[in-house]
Amino acid sequence: MSVSGLCQVCEVEPATHDCARCGTFVCDNHFHRTSGLCSQCASESSPGEGGGPARKF
Ligand SMILES: [Zn+2]
Ligand SMILES: [Zn+2]
Repeated sequence: MSVSGLCQVCEVEPATHDCARCGTFVCDNHFHRTSGLCSQCASESSPGEGGGPARKF
């Protein structure tokens, strides 16, 4: 059916991970193993661990 198992970001590579935030299936290229989020969530909500350098938007 519509479940192709492809990355929801590039829709080219096979999805091998699922985002812990939005649940989007992404490939290894669009998955941040450190945060467990997809590239979009990882870019939106930067892992502010408190103590990082001031990062302007
Ligand atoms: Zn991808
Ligand atoms: Zn996500």
